[in-house]
Amino acid sequence: MSQLRSNFLRHVAQTSSEPLGIEVASAHGCVIVDKSGRQYLDLLSGIGVASVGHAHPEVVQAVKRQADRYLHTMVYGEHIQEPQVQLAEQLAHVAPSPLSVTYFTNSGAEAIEGALKTARKYTGRTRFVSFLGSFHGDTFGALSVGGNPLYRVPFEPLLPTVTFLPFDDLQALERIDDTVAAVLIEPIQGEGGVRIPSDGFLQRLQERCHAVGALLIFDEVITGFGRTGRLFACEHWQVAPDILVLAKALGGGMPLGAFISTPEIMRTLTHDPPLAHVTTFGGHPVCCAAGLASLQVLLRDKLPQRAQVVGEAMLERLRELLGLGGLTAVRGRGLLIALEFASPEATKDFVQRCFDANVLLGWTLHRDTVVRLAPPLIISPEEIDHAVTVMRKALQTV
Ligand code: PLP
Repeated sequence: MSQLRSNFLRHVAQTSSEPLGIEVASAHGCVIVDKSGRQYLDLLSGIGVASVGHAHPEVVQAVKRQADRYLHTMVYGEHIQEPQVQLAEQLAHVAPSPLSVTYFTNSGAEAIEGALKTARKYTGRTRFVSFLGSFHGDTFGALSVGGNPLYRVPFEPLLPTVTFLPFDDLQALERIDDTVAAVLIEPIQGEGGVRIPSDGFLQRLQERCHAVGALLIFDEVITGFGRTGRLFACEHWQVAPDILVLAKALGGGMPLGAFISTPEIMRTLTHDPPLAHVTTFGGHPVCCAAGLASLQVLLRDKLPQRAQVVGEAMLERLRELLGLGGLTAVRGRGLLIALEFASPEATKDFVQRCFDANVLLGWTLHRDTVVRLAPPLIISPEEIDHAVTVMRKALQTV
């Protein structure tokens, strides 16, 4: 075992007994190279982060340029920092109307926390509604609205005022009433196994929220920035939330999260008391510079449209593998794709065989029978060809 690996195991806090443990030397585009020179085709993108590819040259350039100007100067919201303002302005252009004011954080979970606090303060209500199978992050607030008891129960007591409804169940929406501050939903559930709601569900949810005065929060941490073939997944159904939560691909590989809402809702954070929600590093200028460069690449190179076309072609190729090696279902939108297996063992075997053939993919946090694919949106036809060939072989040998 290398010294680096043994120090990793000894000194870096571990979160599982079987870490992937790749000793990363470099990462560019869709390829991660380890210290022995082994090249992996990355179909996970650091779980939905590297949408423009690893270390995109324009993102790296923006980071270097900003690092030469200034790093951190003041807690969020006090100084006027150009990259932050420019990114917020761009987000106002592309976010569903009328969302035009952004609060930046360091991560998705923090953005969820901010959105929940804003909703409570704005509405003066305490209850939240979330959905079974959802994942919103691992801080106490975000965990409280996470729809999987396996991850919640060991940390209870959490926020006591959360009701969980079944995903994509129209009838259950009647349980949303005028005591609810906000309803939180991933328009397409990611960790829950890439679950896509039926047409009409999100519209009905929005109508119900409007009828009872609850805010609708869309968590697009994984689905945002072109992943599902639209810039934001909610565009598939033309439903705009009251608050949109973003992270992962937002920073182009740097840590950045955000929640975006209307001027009226966001004003609630300025008073009674002022400074009730601040963060030291949220919206770091280097991260915002990276985010701005990444968004420009994404829009200029039409990566959401690309994800739509390439994703459909990939789905079609993957459907041809149904029935092999315990593969029972293939579904997805754009380049967020799920492969469902008959058993956890078949899933694990498949992931391991792909890994042995230098293709990185993973099972989802909440569903041990679902493999999730979320490659960089720049993945080439040759790389897809190679990935499908490896997956076919892996299934044939399971
Ligand atoms: N929301 C969703 C839908 C996610 O998939 C995740 C992370 O996987 C989060 C929130 C939490 O984001 P972070 O890990 O940046 O805190």
